[in-house]
Amino acid sequence: MFSSLQDRLGSILNGLTGRGALSEADVSAALREVRRALLEADVALEVVRSFTDRVKEKAVGAEILKSIKPGQMVVKIVHDELVATLGTEGVSIDLNAPAPVTVMMVGLQGSGKTTTTGKIAKRFTERQKKRVLMASLDTRRPAAQEQLRVLGEQTGVATLPIIPGQGPVEIAVRASQAARLGGYDILILDTAGRTHIDEPLMAEMAEIKARSTPHEILLVADSLTGQDAVNLARSFDGRVGITGIVLTRVDGDGRGGAALSMRAVTGKPIKLLGTGEKMDALEEFHPSRVADRILG
Ligand code: GDP
Repeated sequence: MFSSLQDRLGSILNGLTGRGALSEADVSAALREVRRALLEADVALEVVRSFTDRVKEKAVGAEILKSIKPGQMVVKIVHDELVATLGTEGVSIDLNAPAPVTVMMVGLQGSGKTTTTGKIAKRFTERQKKRVLMASLDTRRPAAQEQLRVLGEQTGVATLPIIPGQGPVEIAVRASQAARLGGYDILILDTAGRTHIDEPLMAEMAEIKARSTPHEILLVADSLTGQDAVNLARSFDGRVGITGIVLTRVDGDGRGGAALSMRAVTGKPIKLLGTGEKMDALEEFHPSRVADRILG
């Protein structure tokens, strides 16, 4: 097991109790440990750099108080900066648009798009009594459309009837029509992923967006994504333009540095967390909890 950041900083800094303020040399030694902790938590390197620069600015010259050990003081500065970077809590999916409000789910294959589509649809149906239609635009993976249909049956949410042979854009257009004509409040489009980011995937997402004018575009990403998180978030946001992030597999062993990486490079809010395979395993995002976990 790694020792906690608090312990590590304590051994570096606590001897300073009773001195005036943290010097640049004190802070630099502490920041090496902070950097290590962030990299162990899978925060992307470029994000670690800019983050530690900001912590340095706040910590150098900070007065050493009698009431709190210097190590704890720096941990608090790091924690507060993590929370500030991770962003506001409780940013929910925005439904403030004419019905049907279209939500487009994007992300790599296996990231949890279909599962999250079902979870969100179930939540809106049960908690807000919304009429939700789900449509799978994944014509690449043979069983994907069927997977969503089964989820719809389990959760009591309507799914767009499957018409074999249609392409993703055609299905998106049909889904928008069906949602309008059927008087649905919300349409969730579950798009196809790929094993990695490539141009055909981005082109397909851009075309679906152009044809279905979604109000929300949510990037679904595995919280165990390591250094790739930056590239993933930047590609989807740069090319398609996302409005928020859903992190899945938060129930896993990872420390969730991807949350910080993706938020830092896109500035887009983390809206929800997937915490299991079950349809109710969906939670609000609390930056302070994620910060605690990153610090270990
Ligand atoms: P998609 O290819 O992006 O649509 O991914 P799926 O929704 O099919 O999910 C891939 C696998 O991850 C499935 O076995 C899901 O049950 C599982 N999964 C999705 N979200 C979570 C989560 O939050 N926690 C856990 N433990 N498993 C998840």
